[in-house]
Amino acid sequence: MIETAVFDTKSYDREYLSRAAGAERIAWRFQEFRLSAETAYAATGARAVCLFVNDRADRACLEALAPLGVRLLALRCAGYNNVDLTAARLLGLAIVRVPAYSPHAVAEHTVGLLLTLNRKIHRAYNRVREMNFSLGGLVGFDLHGKTVGIIGTGNIGRIAAQIFCGFGCEVIAYDPFPAPEWAAVHNVRYVDFHTLLAASDVVSLHLPLLPATFHLLNEETISRTKRGVFIINTSRGKLIETGALIAALKSGHIGGVALDVYEEQEGIFLEDLSGQVLHDDELSLLLNDPNVLITAHQAFLTHEALSEIARVTTENILKLEKGEP
Ligand code: NAD
Repeated sequence: MIETAVFDTKSYDREYLSRAAGAERIAWRFQEFRLSAETAYAATGARAVCLFVNDRADRACLEALAPLGVRLLALRCAGYNNVDLTAARLLGLAIVRVPAYSPHAVAEHTVGLLLTLNRKIHRAYNRVREMNFSLGGLVGFDLHGKTVGIIGTGNIGRIAAQIFCGFGCEVIAYDPFPAPEWAAVHNVRYVDFHTLLAASDVVSLHLPLLPATFHLLNEETISRTKRGVFIINTSRGKLIETGALIAALKSGHIGGVALDVYEEQEGIFLEDLSGQVLHDDELSLLLNDPNVLITAHQAFLTHEALSEIARVTTENILKLEKGEP
């Protein structure tokens, strides 16, 4: 049995990990709190640690985990910006992740957010439930014929682009590592970053958070976008400078913002904070803006994605039995 401490566990993690093939060879120790240097002691006796997007595996945390006998950090997500890879290498800790589980889940949520925000379906839903059947203030725009700029054409960005093509949008894309054959098949045109910002009615982010992409959308780059632009971020919160986003919403430069991720989401997203005071003023402003729609990092949350995450994570952990990785 491989003792595995699972941090930031939710009911669906427990359910899907427990029933994955081979899961019976793992002694799962589900913890509801997040991993950090302060909570690392909870992995005492475990050879593997399983973590998600809001866990913080920084140097201090890894230095606390290594002497406990932990050999492997199994991320049950694709992004790995929350792990200090250099420290992990120095400490001899192996890192595994789930590079692609269901890109469709995230791409479809991206499009769902845009449709909801643009056609004001969330507001209409509430209005009708109050027996208010009026339509004032619910005017949206046709997606057909609009220019959608996809930043990052990896697994998720490509599927999002294809869905937008299905709506009859003109899809343009920017990626330092383009996929020209795919683009030719789907009639997607690669342009440079600044051209994409200037030409797009909708900008959708599908790139990783790296030192080079931190605050990719900031005061300067947002000022290059079209007035009235809709921005969607289902990738990582720190790709957008929140203060600049709020200023551009206030001035009316940005027409709408849909976020599944937020710069300071750690400790907020994935938690039930109802009835508590929210101490994040920028998030409060965003939540109260009718042109903003927020979901709490749920783009991945489909049956197919959770099954695949559990399957690959279990396989990754079981590699320890063979002395890998
Ligand atoms: P991927 O690795 O398949 O693709 C990322 C693409 O971004 C690559 O083609 C890469 O070349 C490109 N890229 C790198 N730097 C860039 C830059 N400066 N400008 C433009 N493009 C750049 O990743 P993916 O599976 O498509 O996932 C994309 C992101 O989505 C992940 O990094 C992750 O942060 C996020 N994600 C979010 C959720 C969620 O639930 N919200 C779930 C899974 C993934």
